[in-house]
Amino acid sequence: MNILVLGSGGREHTFAWKIAQSNQCTNLYVAPGNSGTSAIATNLDLSVTDFKAIKDAVIANDIELVVVGPEDPLVQGVHDFFLEDEALKNVAVIGPQKAAAELEGSKEFAKEFMSRHNIPTAAYQSFTKDNVEEGHKFLETLNAPYVLKADGLAAGKGVLILNDLDEAKAELSNMLVNAKFGNASAKVVIEEFLDGIELSCFVLTDGKDYKILPTAKDYKRIGEGDTGLNTGGMGAVSPVPFATDDFLSKIENQIVKPTVEGLQKDNLPYVGFIFIGLIKVGDDPKVIEYNVRMGDPETEVVLPRLKTDLVTIFKAMAKGTLADVAIDIDERAATTIMLVSGGYPEAYEKGKEITGLEKVEDSIVFHAGAKDTDGKVVTSGGRVMAVTSYGDTYQEAIKKSYQNIENLHFDKMYYRKDIGFDL
Ligand code: ATP
Repeated sequence: MNILVLGSGGREHTFAWKIAQSNQCTNLYVAPGNSGTSAIATNLDLSVTDFKAIKDAVIANDIELVVVGPEDPLVQGVHDFFLEDEALKNVAVIGPQKAAAELEGSKEFAKEFMSRHNIPTAAYQSFTKDNVEEGHKFLETLNAPYVLKADGLAAGKGVLILNDLDEAKAELSNMLVNAKFGNASAKVVIEEFLDGIELSCFVLTDGKDYKILPTAKDYKRIGEGDTGLNTGGMGAVSPVPFATDDFLSKIENQIVKPTVEGLQKDNLPYVGFIFIGLIKVGDDPKVIEYNVRMGDPETEVVLPRLKTDLVTIFKAMAKGTLADVAIDIDERAATTIMLVSGGYPEAYEKGKEITGLEKVEDSIVFHAGAKDTDGKVVTSGGRVMAVTSYGDTYQEAIKKSYQNIENLHFDKMYYRKDIGFDL
């Protein structure tokens, strides 16, 4: 079958890498893709939110399965677009329809879903510009730190955690009245602060049944020791050593099951990945957020540990027969280290040649912000590539990635040297 992956990051290179291993895939396309996907698939130069261009590409290339990498097309309704078009309605789409994608598209929607289905999460209230004063009063009832979340998508920047009450009040006004995050902060969720260690759980569902993929932990801050600005993610480790069997069964029973049942009860069809951001408070998991797609860089450690043919899984998800598929996981640990452009997540330069790729042995380099230009691979984004390795322990895997990174160079290349330091 011909398959299209939408997106251009390390996550999509990893999807393409895994799909390309399946003998059920005839032709593989990635749109728009990067220098990593061009080596194993055909890149199509189109935007992931240009549904008309996607339709044309799907028809022109006889594509039967579309895997949606990022959240934007899902929140904008790409799956619904396929279902509503006579020419596309038999094409399988991996990713939820718009109504369920609101779990990521609106934090208030996600909180209401969790409270309706008794899924453990932080206490909250939401406010608009019409009740800013009530928002200030609510903040006075809480203890520091104060957690303010723009309701809509804000490219991972819409969450503020503040220690000072006056600053929290000022920021709330700034978000609601001055549209600090544009329309995304027309509504703000104020949440109880949860103190604990974070991890992510990834679930596959066909809307009825589910399968749980390995857990992962990512490293969001730019600086070592988890300091400095937030990024898209600087590295990841799977499995998460502190996620014991007992803790994992709490996640399944208290969170995964009620989430999938809740989708059914609320009549929200869902064929896709659910990424559950969790925090371990004492011995209990609580949900911080839902994402309606895989994480990046978590995909770069989770999919390499999946032994089952990904196309078999996707076909079963689309048919509603996921329960019949056995998910086989590699016992080894996998870790990834992200190489980024100097200056990221603030201003950085692009177009720097990347050398040494041919010297990498025993690690997999997933390209992210990198493209082919005049026979060379050059940087084209902040996060440039993810170096993934396996090991009998995560320490061994991390060591292998760091050794291989010694071979890779581009001007002003930066990476954290402490991934896994806290485990
Ligand atoms: P992402 O960039 O992961 O998509 P996001 O903008 O969708 O993030 P959240 O994941 O809800 O927002 O929050 C971002 C980060 O803020 C979390 O990873 C966590 O570190 C912190 N955070 C969010 N909510 C809380 C909370 N209630 N208590 C403590 N920390 C929190």
